[in-house]
Amino acid sequence: MNGSARNTAEAIRAVLADFPHPPRALVQSFGCQLNFCDGEKYKGILADLGYELTEDPEQADVILYNACAVRAHAESRVIGRLGALKPLKERNPRLVIGLCGCMAEEDEVRALLRRSYPYVSLVLGAGAMERLPQALLAAYQGQKHTEEGLGFSGLPDESLPTVRDGAFQASVPVMYGCNNFCTYCIVPYVRGRERSRTPEAIENEVRELVRSGCREILLLGQNVNSYGRGLSEEISFPALLRRLDAIDGDYFIRFMSSHPKDATEELIDTMLASRHIEHHLHLPVQSGSDAVLKAMNRHYTAEKYLSLIDYARSKSADFAFSSDLIVGFPTETDADFQQTLSLIRRVRYDNLYTFIYSPRSGTPAAEMEQVSTEEEISGRMRVLLETQREITERCNQDFIGRETVMLAEKYDAEKGMLTGRTRACRNAAVKGHPELVGQFVRVRITGAKSWALTGEAVREKE
Ligand code: SF4
Repeated sequence: MNGSARNTAEAIRAVLADFPHPPRALVQSFGCQLNFCDGEKYKGILADLGYELTEDPEQADVILYNACAVRAHAESRVIGRLGALKPLKERNPRLVIGLCGCMAEEDEVRALLRRSYPYVSLVLGAGAMERLPQALLAAYQGQKHTEEGLGFSGLPDESLPTVRDGAFQASVPVMYGCNNFCTYCIVPYVRGRERSRTPEAIENEVRELVRSGCREILLLGQNVNSYGRGLSEEISFPALLRRLDAIDGDYFIRFMSSHPKDATEELIDTMLASRHIEHHLHLPVQSGSDAVLKAMNRHYTAEKYLSLIDYARSKSADFAFSSDLIVGFPTETDADFQQTLSLIRRVRYDNLYTFIYSPRSGTPAAEMEQVSTEEEISGRMRVLLETQREITERCNQDFIGRETVMLAEKYDAEKGMLTGRTRACRNAAVKGHPELVGQFVRVRITGAKSWALTGEAVREKE
């Protein structure tokens, strides 16, 4: 920590020392895993300053909403929550309320806050966690409204303290930002250009997590396949994976998100030859129609996309895929949608995350004419969900009678069931004991639902 940061921290601690009770802070994150990762750093910084962390806004002296900008209704929900904090501020004038994350990067959001939510005293840009102390001190020194770290295009300081949400699962960002400018997406405008952490920093973090008993490492980036570009020593994502896989221990490595235009056969080979990396790829396709993919500026065709699926399946029939799909993109016709249906029948995804197109102002797609009605779009979504439900159920049935290993993530005491995911990221629910949570468990699959494999724990993995 440099001199001015130290002085800022000491000045804040001096303010907190006068509080009639131990100061408490609430950090609530919304949106993608990367935003939750930033949230863990906000918690670390506040805990390091001397705040106890709380989930109860009534108890909090600092409330930070770390919000997402990807969908309009997510934003209006956060605005609604900020509105609900007004009485708390009236009751506790020392309460500091802040908005941070991608949502804070939007000009119209900040204008709205200045106009209608004057009690929101600090606004921090996406990824600008280290600016929190000085913004906080400014608020304690009476500054009504502080905006810090907007358009942050650096990398978070590697020494920032972190309070992790998971006990045995941890997210590790490998890169920030995106250069792809898909026409419907606001991320490049709020998260900036791609920049990668050094492989040493990532390896040290993963090694420390594994040493401390972490069982699942999720590597994060908007497009992990372009990891390493721009580093002094360029390194590809498969090379980074091989480097991390060499770390001894009992853990899974998962990662997201991959952009199909940059995902390679080398990536698949690296995953299948590894000791720890999942045999599952989250590969957002967004549409099965080349015309729509072009209008989305996705830079691949359905055929190119399917060639990677076929390659992986030719190497391992059980290789699992999940994806993201947008229904109702402005130029999407029913014929385009039929192409999407035939693609998902061809791929047989194990899991599909589906979204109705949400126009984001400032993106090219928001200017495009919508050629479908809301009824048509919601009709397509119903058909898509039903089609995928049947596919997932059929995929899961292929595993009945087989054994696999899952990481037990939760225990449902009422049902006496452990839930978790296998190495191929398939959901599983098995009979077992609560002390197996956080452990790898060998399971025999005896049944299949549309949302999970079912079965029983056969024996703990040695
Ligand atoms: S790859 Fe496209 S959809 Fe993903 S974050 Fe970048 S611009 Fe957005």
